[in-house]
Amino acid sequence: MSDEIRLPKAEYSTPPGIQHHVCEHDGCAKDAGWGFAKPKQAPHWFCFEHRAEGEHYL
Ligand SMILES: [Zn+2]
Repeated sequence: MSDEIRLPKAEYSTPPGIQHHVCEHDGCAKDAGWGFAKPKQAPHWFCFEHRAEGEHYL
């Protein structure tokens, strides 16, 4: 129960195994379950650890 739980509306999660994305954080190759995208733009993907970086793309 903290600010970590609060999710922007444009943030969404993908069930494991449905799509495979790799975290865009430099040097991170983890599976990215969080996508960030503005309307009509390609999403940016980040893992749980780096998903805060995706908010820069919103
Ligand atoms: Zn990452």
